Amino acid sequence: MLYAQVVLPLAQPMYSFSLDESLAVEVGDAVVVQFGSSRYYTGIVWSISSERPDYPRLKPILRKLYSHPILTPEGQRLWEWIADYYLATLGEVMRLALPSLAKPSATSLSELDERSIEPPTEQFIALAEELCTAESLTQYRAKHERRAPRRVETIERIAALATERNANDGFVPRRLLDVDPQHLATLRSKGLIRIEQRLREPLKGDTENFLLPTLSEAQSLALEELRCAHREHKVALLHGVTGSGKTEIYIHLIAEHLAQGRDVMVLVPEIVITSQLIERLERIFEGRTTTYHSRLTPLRRGRTFLRLAASTGGELIVGVRSTIFLPMRCPGLVIVDEEHDMGYKQSDMQPRYNARDCAVVMSRLYDVQVVLGSATPSLESYMNAISGKYHYVELKERWGKGVLPEIIVSDTIRAVKRGERKTHFNFDLLNNINRSLHAGEQVILFQNRRGYAPYLQCRTCGYSPRCPHCNVTLTQHKASSRLECHYCGFTMERSLVCPNCETQDMATMGFGTEKVEEEVTRLFPEARVLRLDGDTSTSESAFRRIVSSFEHHEGDILVGTQIVSKGFDFEGVSTVGILNADNLLSTPDFRATERAFQLMMQVAGRAGRHNDRGRVVIQTSQPKHPVIQYVASADYHAMARTELAERKAFGYPPYSHLIRFQLREADYELLRAAAHILAQNLRQMFGKRVMGPVSSAIEMLRGEHRAEIILKIEAGASMKRARECITKALEVTRSDKRAKRVMISVDVDI
Ligand code: ADP
Ligand code: ZN
Repeated sequence: MLYAQVVLPLAQPMYSFSLDESLAVEVGDAVVVQFGSSRYYTGIVWSISSERPDYPRLKPILRKLYSHPILTPEGQRLWEWIADYYLATLGEVMRLALPSLAKPSATSLSELDERSIEPPTEQFIALAEELCTAESLTQYRAKHERRAPRRVETIERIAALATERNANDGFVPRRLLDVDPQHLATLRSKGLIRIEQRLREPLKGDTENFLLPTLSEAQSLALEELRCAHREHKVALLHGVTGSGKTEIYIHLIAEHLAQGRDVMVLVPEIVITSQLIERLERIFEGRTTTYHSRLTPLRRGRTFLRLAASTGGELIVGVRSTIFLPMRCPGLVIVDEEHDMGYKQSDMQPRYNARDCAVVMSRLYDVQVVLGSATPSLESYMNAISGKYHYVELKERWGKGVLPEIIVSDTIRAVKRGERKTHFNFDLLNNINRSLHAGEQVILFQNRRGYAPYLQCRTCGYSPRCPHCNVTLTQHKASSRLECHYCGFTMERSLVCPNCETQDMATMGFGTEKVEEEVTRLFPEARVLRLDGDTSTSESAFRRIVSSFEHHEGDILVGTQIVSKGFDFEGVSTVGILNADNLLSTPDFRATERAFQLMMQVAGRAGRHNDRGRVVIQTSQPKHPVIQYVASADYHAMARTELAERKAFGYPPYSHLIRFQLREADYELLRAAAHILAQNLRQMFGKRVMGPVSSAIEMLRGEHRAEIILKIEAGASMKRARECITKALEVTRSDKRAKRVMISVDVDI
């Protein structure tokens, strides 16, 4: 008898089961076990031993689910790292990592069998053994060419495909043949071919013949640098301005890895970007790409997962953050595009992992090449690059004749004073919109609304109050007349007089995309206006419709939230307007500056990608604000230097790790009590590194109150030790009867 440690998809430790050798179960296999009195789960075998663990009553492993293990040894190490680093259990990692249909659970075994799926298969065809030599083929042709030309043709095609695809046993996927079933049936009945049902595989064609784009000199140099990074076993940061052709460089690198039969993963932060990228990759790597994201049907996701688990390598997978959990049998390359994007962070479920950081860890665990790409790298990655931990590769110019757009900073306060503003539009912007529309070109108007939190701003000087301790904008709470800091809880009385210029002109700011759409429609009645935001693109098809209709110039003006900044390549856009840069600068977040810069640069990157130089109009009441200046001069390095100095002064990442504890509970008093108990327990170990508790940005959600505590661990301190202390503090808190009922979640590296 053997014994196995099994991970179950529960927030629980591992459990031991007895394992009958005849089941031929290996580590990494998915198995079915009974847990609790009437519940059957899929578990993952973590380890196997012949030593009996000392539990009196061990239940048996009931069956093995798939013919191949679904977790590789490297995958196991990744799960362990994630569980450890993000303070979760392996079961919680399992819950997120495996698509639901790959890990069925049920109340009876028969129900579980019904719910189980198999990896997708397809028909494969090979010539009969007698026909497998060159001579026999020639003979066959000589004999039948006249009487049965079609048969000869099909048989020679199968032989040719088998050679082309290096199929050792002669089997090729039937879908490549393009012949009718009748014809095949005849061939089979005559004993000329063999047909087998086999695991579906991507079309692995001739890897020598990918039609790769010709690279410019700068792009070739960058590619060489990436190869060099690989030889040094270093993560590479590819910092290339928008339109520099990072994708073209990825394509070359991808081709190299595929040609060697290795797997490639391309990660993108959001589903919406996958479609344009996939189209581009499909054009080159026809039939090869596998996509993975949450809008696919559960069946498709489950089957993709199982197919990859059984694959032999040479896969090209494109998807969002959860793609990192797909099995790679022959890991070669992981590309994280737009690596700065917060879409890589899982934010609403344990483990709250960042897929970019996991990819970096994978470079070590899997020995894969990892490339992080961005036009505006995160400061975390940038610091790793300049410190030499990553290999830094920079592309400073747009590809071809492309030039970066002209940036026009338009002072809103001045425009108001001079009467050069209509509703939310300064004349600078209106004139440029006019100019584009007259030339038959397109316009994008950007208004950030999603990250919108009400804040106070002086309409005379543009000042907004900030926390003296945390250097973030204070947020105005609806119900009170006070302003509050979301990190440390500092509050101050809301005053109508500006502390900066002493005018009585403080006002609550914020307006959304609908408002912009409404106004622009009124100002330009002839223009066709489209809107792209969370409300208009609830489904992927709605989203596609809007994007494609703008692409085909069925709209003149596109109004949108940050979705419009996401890597789209619209040909006809010559003016981009940022309606209110102030609310980007005023987000109550220590990354506000970095985000504002990234967002404005990304939005600006949509202008003039193909035609003459594009124009970007940024409306702001703080034209002298350093971030606006950095955007105007497209100076990432200056932004990064200044912002890193600020981060250092206030002890923010990358000079520290921030860990957020969020508590949720319907009973407000209970929540407050629990929050104080946790804060106190944390303070006992971490002292002044603990901030809060404060109420969350969204104080109440689905009938629950929320509170937060933030812990700041300086970089260089032992995170391992910190995690031990946190675990202890949580244990003590959870055992306190006043805090027991309250939900506490932990978010590492917010
Ligand atoms: P980035 O991702 O860096 O913003 P893209 O890869 O989207 O840039 O490239 C911008 C545009 O330039 C695209 O339309 C792309 O097709 C074109 N381009 C870039 N490099 C090349 C190249 N070597 N050959 C042909 N077209 C290129
Ligand atoms: Zn503060």
